[in-house]
Amino acid sequence: MRDIYEKVVELANRRGFFWPSARDVYAGAPAGFFVYGPLGLRMKDKIIALWRSKIVLLEGVHEIETPNILPIKVFEASGHLKHFFDKLIECKRCHSRFRVDKLIEESLGLKEHLEGLSDEELMRIIKEKNIRCPKCGSTKWTEIKKFNLMFTIAVGAEANEPNAALRPETTQGSVIEFRKSYIVMRGRLPFILGQVGKVFRNEISPRRALIRMREFQQLEIHIFFNSDDPDRIYKEKLEPYLDYKIRFLRKEDREIGEIVEMTAREALESGYTINSLITYWLVLYQKFFNESLKIPLERIRYRELIEGEKAHYALAHWDLEAYTEDLGWTELVNNTYRTDYDLSGHVKVSGNDLRVSDAEGRKILPHLYEPSIGLDRVLFHELMLAYREDGERTWLKLPRYLAPIEIATFPLMKKDSMPEKARQIYRELIKEGFIAFYDESGTIGRRYRRMDEIGTPICVTVDHQTMEDDTVTMRDRDTMKQVRVKITNLPEKARKFLRENIAIEDLQD
Ligand SMILES: [Zn+2]
Repeated sequence: MRDIYEKVVELANRRGFFWPSARDVYAGAPAGFFVYGPLGLRMKDKIIALWRSKIVLLEGVHEIETPNILPIKVFEASGHLKHFFDKLIECKRCHSRFRVDKLIEESLGLKEHLEGLSDEELMRIIKEKNIRCPKCGSTKWTEIKKFNLMFTIAVGAEANEPNAALRPETTQGSVIEFRKSYIVMRGRLPFILGQVGKVFRNEISPRRALIRMREFQQLEIHIFFNSDDPDRIYKEKLEPYLDYKIRFLRKEDREIGEIVEMTAREALESGYTINSLITYWLVLYQKFFNESLKIPLERIRYRELIEGEKAHYALAHWDLEAYTEDLGWTELVNNTYRTDYDLSGHVKVSGNDLRVSDAEGRKILPHLYEPSIGLDRVLFHELMLAYREDGERTWLKLPRYLAPIEIATFPLMKKDSMPEKARQIYRELIKEGFIAFYDESGTIGRRYRRMDEIGTPICVTVDHQTMEDDTVTMRDRDTMKQVRVKITNLPEKARKFLRENIAIEDLQD
């Protein structure tokens, strides 16, 4: 049996969620770039909308949009030119190049990560385990080299060498626009910026569909705060969640792989999560992934990163990871306490004063805490976790509000005015704000299957009885149960079903 990962990639490709870019026309097109088809794009927009409603609006985030291309100076200041590299190794026979840690992890089928190991340790494993080149089978390897992940470019007609780069994170845009945003928005600390944007990393070996890409999308939150007063606002905001349990894989528990559940109070009071602000945001994101994105708690953990794994700018760093049987634990959100590393880097390189005034008129260079969501990975995990099949059918048990098509409308048969009636209902549903779809081709059974396969929560069918009493059937994707409702009540019932998670039986007229 193929695993779910393979099945989801095949389904996504065939039904139009996503597929590799340019490959249909240019066979040798570089890997790690993807096209979102109509279904995938709509689902992605829904995840962004959910994040905006549950995080951005509720937490007072000022969302901005900064360019994808920034001056190279920015990345000199941020340390990316110097520190942002992966470890590369080359096969001496066929000259294929690989990211060392992933080469070993994938060759040995490891579910844990080797990111933090030194060159010597990695080299020792390669020799001891006799790791072979996946392309040609050779065991002759070069030394480990550093490979910078930045895409640099030359902007302008006069440029003879790179003077700019595609951003590898949206953060630097927020950091260099922080002071300006603070002033125009008449900000107070903590001051929060947010960005939805594409980022670019020249991955050595992109793979696993949307998991390791060269161009991907982030949902980032940048919280600038006074490090002398990190509890301001957040002490109070954290209060209702002090007994909420946060799931950590602490660095000392990594060997045994044991997840510790710590209440927010314990995490804060023991000093583990540093301050109220960070603790609050760790709670918020675990809740968002569990309660809004519907990932079961037992599949979520915060993995504490150790020296060598942590990003070069991070004082503290936890990856929010999700578990699937096929991919093991995969990072979905990187949560980092960056201190004033970024701002002071830009002060140094630019020579400009980037401090802002607090309420008492003191000049402050704020610290930065950042939860950064990898959007493509989230979408991919939603699909993997939703995938279901039995002998009869395949269906995506997506959270109803994330489904790319919300309601399908069918005539039972192509006669007796049923298509006209079904089209009319379809148009009404669109006017009511639903994402509706009309289909009359093939048997009704096949039409249901096609909708199940892309996770459409409701199918509405116009049949003989409709013509007599203006009722239609409403069918639930997950249970396949049907109820009859009056056409006039359909929008209200559909809204309840999609937004309030009400069971289909409770919608019968
Ligand atoms: Zn080779």
